[in-house]
Amino acid sequence: MTPLILVTNDDGIHAPGLAILALALQGLGQTVIVAPDQDNSAASHSLTMKRPLRVKDLGRNRYSVDGTPTDCVTLAMGKILPHKPHLVVSGINPGPNLGDDVSYSGTVSAAVEGTMLGAPSLAVSLAGEEPFYFETAAVFAVKLAQTILGKGLPKDTLLNVNVPNRRPEEIQGVRFTRQGRRVYDGAIKETLDPWGRQHYWIGGGTPFWDAGEDTDAQAIVAGYVSITPLHFDLTNHAALSMLRKEWRLSLLP
Ligand code: MN
Repeated sequence: MTPLILVTNDDGIHAPGLAILALALQGLGQTVIVAPDQDNSAASHSLTMKRPLRVKDLGRNRYSVDGTPTDCVTLAMGKILPHKPHLVVSGINPGPNLGDDVSYSGTVSAAVEGTMLGAPSLAVSLAGEEPFYFETAAVFAVKLAQTILGKGLPKDTLLNVNVPNRRPEEIQGVRFTRQGRRVYDGAIKETLDPWGRQHYWIGGGTPFWDAGEDTDAQAIVAGYVSITPLHFDLTNHAALSMLRKEWRLSLLP
C-alpha cells in the first residue's frame, strides 16, 4: 500500500516550511496537508472546543482549518483522511524547538496528537534564524520518514527533530539527545503604548541554555542534528517511587 503521510505545522497553511516539507515527502507516498489557516506558533497542545471548526478544501490534497495544530491533526485523522496515516510530519518550523520550549510548541504538539491517535509522528524544526535553509531540514526529514516507515517507532513515542540552520555539507552528523533546559532572562518586556499606558511582551528576553551533557541544545550548538524521543507520560517515575516510600499522607488528623 502507498504510504499515507499527513503533513501539518503550527505556522499556518501559507508557511514556506510546510510547502517545502510536503514537496520533499511526496516521493515517499501520498501526502495530505492539513494545517491551521493562521500562525499558531506557541499554541501548545490546545484544542478548540468552544466554537465550531471549519475545514477549507484548497484542492490538491491541501486543507486549512480555522483552529490549532492539534485541531488539524484531530480533524485530519477523524474526518479528512480515508484511513489512519502511516506517518504524521509536523514542520518545518522556522526556529528551534528545544528544551523547555517543547512544552509551548505547536509544532511538537501536532506530533504529540498524531502519536496519541496511534500514528508514528515526528516534528521538524530549523534551529537558527533567518535566512532559513529549509532544504537541509527537508532532506533529512525524508531520510528519517523513510526509516520510520520501515522500522516504526517505539510505542507512544514521537521524535522531536531539530536541524542546524545551515547547508547540508556543514552539518556534523546526527545525535540522539535528551530534552534540555532553557533558562529565560528578563523574558517579560515592559513598555508603553502610544498613549502612555503600560503593556507587556512575553518572550522578549535572551534565553540561555543549561549546558547539560547529551542535550538537544548541546547537539545543535555543536552543529549536529538533534533527535529527541519524547513521550507524553509526564509522570516523574523516580519521584513517584520516592513519594510512595517517604511521604505518609492521610486525611485523618
Ligand atoms: Mn512555529
